[in-house]
Amino acid sequence: MNTNAVSLWITGLGIWPLIVVLLPNLMFRRFGQGAGEKRKASLYQAIAIFLITTLAALIVELELTDIYFYAGLAVILLALVIFRRRIFPYRLKCAGCERMLDIKTLYFIDSNLCADCRVKNNEGM
Ligand SMILES: [Zn+2]
Repeated sequence: MNTNAVSLWITGLGIWPLIVVLLPNLMFRRFGQGAGEKRKASLYQAIAIFLITTLAALIVELELTDIYFYAGLAVILLALVIFRRRIFPYRLKCAGCERMLDIKTLYFIDSNLCADCRVKNNEGM
């Protein structure tokens, strides 16, 4: 495994991984203050993607092997694990009644409450 095939493949993707992560970010405006934490989380995810693609490009540019890529990736993944509560603040179930959340609430709304529980708590939206 003395190649840089993985780094080469990731570099070949260009900036598309970053665009895919950042596109939903444009929709956060609609949800205003109630989505601030998850908006920041999606930016942290984009930073992680940026670091990974930059690392891959660097490996290709310096003609190193994928071993260095995996080492850098391990550091990035470790940071993701350590800061997982900030970077992945998502819950599948409502924090109030344990009902499954719809995709909009799951991805955008900070409170992690279903529509009924939000009305109960007078949050609206
Ligand atoms: Zn609920």
